[in-house]
Amino acid sequence: MRAAVFRGTGRLETEEWPRPSIGPGELLLRLRGCGLCGSDIAKMLTPTSAAPAVFGHEIVGDVVEIGAGVADFAPGDRVVAAHHVPCGDCHYCRRGSHSMCPAFKTSHLDPGGFAEYVRVPAPNVRHATFKIPPPVSDEAASFIEPVGCCLRAVRRADVAAGDTAVVVGLGSIGHLFVPLLQRAGATVVGVDDAVHRIDFAERLGLEALRPPAARGRIATLSEGRGADHVIVTGGAASVLAWAVGVVRDGGSIHYFAGGHGDALPIALDTLYQRELTITATYSSSPADLAESSRLITGGEIAVARLYTHRVSIERLGEGVDLMRRRDAVKVYVTP
Ligand SMILES: [Zn+2]
Ligand SMILES: [Zn+2]
Repeated sequence: MRAAVFRGTGRLETEEWPRPSIGPGELLLRLRGCGLCGSDIAKMLTPTSAAPAVFGHEIVGDVVEIGAGVADFAPGDRVVAAHHVPCGDCHYCRRGSHSMCPAFKTSHLDPGGFAEYVRVPAPNVRHATFKIPPPVSDEAASFIEPVGCCLRAVRRADVAAGDTAVVVGLGSIGHLFVPLLQRAGATVVGVDDAVHRIDFAERLGLEALRPPAARGRIATLSEGRGADHVIVTGGAASVLAWAVGVVRDGGSIHYFAGGHGDALPIALDTLYQRELTITATYSSSPADLAESSRLITGGEIAVARLYTHRVSIERLGEGVDLMRRRDAVKVYVTP
């Protein structure tokens, strides 16, 4: 089968890759499409990433083969399957740290979504594979994974009705946070330093501002207190000083992305005296993916409009460049 193969830092080649064969409890999917995620791009640019490899984890595909013992799926089903699943039973899982479960990262799709076929391992089939009903588009369905991650972040940030929330970074993840924070009852302001991203957000009906203007707006919305939550989806450590300036005393700053900066620039005394909370979310859990699937297949949140560009596997490198230049909000990749 054809796949977009990572051959070391920044290099992608379209190559033949062995088509996976499945065992008991597993599924073979023929890919319909796969979202290109910022984390895929980060791996492509990290010198220590193992090569060769096939990335892509926001997949939607058709079941073409089922392994012995699979009862819930049949050939012809259109499904979304999560890349990683936790064991559900260990100390980490019982305390809600699902993505820290030792089983989580070892349970991955084979080889990845930028290929023609994917093997879904048995635990992923059992705990995090979802049938997609006919009216839902492939592109909307491919958002189940990233929306699941954002739902988990909203839960971990403990957003409540009446809160003011600021989303820093208006890429696709920033846009996914907006309706989820609104569902939790928050008033949301989006912030980005790129004018074309502000324009895009405004076309979708979101209040979006550049950082200097946002500061005043946040003060007005919160009666001068500052935001209850600042959700950082991009900009890494350098955003923290700005976030500390707009969050209220006792408020929280939530990192949804890693990135440059090996230390967070905040004075310990500020953290302590102002009783600030810094949290982070890495990936999702099966329960969040299930809720995400319900929201998206039920049409409760509009997501597919975030795809601004579509490329084939052969042109994945162009999709990566579009997102790195921030010309694309989100890129959909098809075999
Ligand atoms: Zn992703
Ligand atoms: Zn576990």
